[in-house]
Amino acid sequence: MSYIEFKNVVKRFGDNTVLDHIDFGIEKGDLVTLLGPSGCGKSTLLRCLSGLEQVSEGQIILNGRDITDVPASKRNIGMVFQQYSLFPNMTVEQNIAFGLKMQKVAPDVIEKKVAEAIAMVELTGKERSYPASLSGGQQQRAALARSIVTEPDVLLLDEPLSAIDAKLRRALQSRIREIQQELGLTTIFVTHDQDEAMVMSDVIQLFHAGRIEQAGSPVQVYTNPVSEFAASFIGSYNILRADEFRALTGEAADDGHVVAIRPETIGVSADPLADDAAYVVEATVVRNVPRGNVLRYTLEASGVEFRVDTLFRSFHLFDDGERVFVAIPKHDCLHIPVEAAFARTAA
Ligand code: ADP
Ligand code: MG
Repeated sequence: MSYIEFKNVVKRFGDNTVLDHIDFGIEKGDLVTLLGPSGCGKSTLLRCLSGLEQVSEGQIILNGRDITDVPASKRNIGMVFQQYSLFPNMTVEQNIAFGLKMQKVAPDVIEKKVAEAIAMVELTGKERSYPASLSGGQQQRAALARSIVTEPDVLLLDEPLSAIDAKLRRALQSRIREIQQELGLTTIFVTHDQDEAMVMSDVIQLFHAGRIEQAGSPVQVYTNPVSEFAASFIGSYNILRADEFRALTGEAADDGHVVAIRPETIGVSADPLADDAAYVVEATVVRNVPRGNVLRYTLEASGVEFRVDTLFRSFHLFDDGERVFVAIPKHDCLHIPVEAAFARTAA
């Protein structure tokens, strides 16, 4: 039995089924990410687990105990939200101490635990500051400290970094992961950002319209998407219809399948490389766009446009309009079923 179990959880708001038979387990000490587009039910699932929302059907088990009808205050679950939820009229120290005071912990123990939590999130020196004088990142670290100081059984983080600048965000991703592993804290992290999910997670649960589309380690989900939705949400796959794949390679796609190809698996060169393990195709550069350390080409061949990512080494290799040769490794052409998920959301 897993540490947390969602058993066929259904949540409806009126006629709107927001969670449609969610059924999975989370192992103790894991960081599991709920990844999916806005509105797919991620926050609702967290709210059901924390007790802020009642499920319509199904059960939630925590550490062997059915908590489906246990009040929120008795679940021992910590939560951090996207919007900073610190008390504005309290200092950092007072905010972090608040939960411990509610638990009637002795003052000297509170002082020690608060100091440890502040050190852990690297806010030493800000103990007496009020939230308004802190940056977004500092406020989120204070909120994190406040939620871990009470030693919850489970930590829920609902898009805690989405309002924070890219650079600081990456630093906080690592810090949260380190703290989570240090404390062995079973954590559910919600994000709509695939890169964030890749960096943070032991397991990704990919959500789509109130259902789990795919679950697995970041590498599994990234390299082996089970559906068109998964391939379009993770890894920025080129998704070719059967006719496009045939035009490009001369080969048929599996019946009822599209073909998904990751941009970084395709090689580009000035000369045709003989390679039995790849489809070698002549193409034209439509455009090239530097994206940090990656240079992304859009190429065209036989009327089909597709993307190729290469490492950007201080200059770009090919100009727009230039003729090039691409090698598409055959084993990187993933034949995946045409989206059944769209049919089921329409139904
Ligand atoms: P996500 O966190 O993945 O963006 P949410 O769980 O917040 O998605 O919302 C999923 C769906 O449930 C949305 O369509 C949203 O409008 C709806 N929803 C969420 N909370 C309520 C509520 N309290 N009442 C009615 N509908 C809600
Ligand atoms: Mg949400």
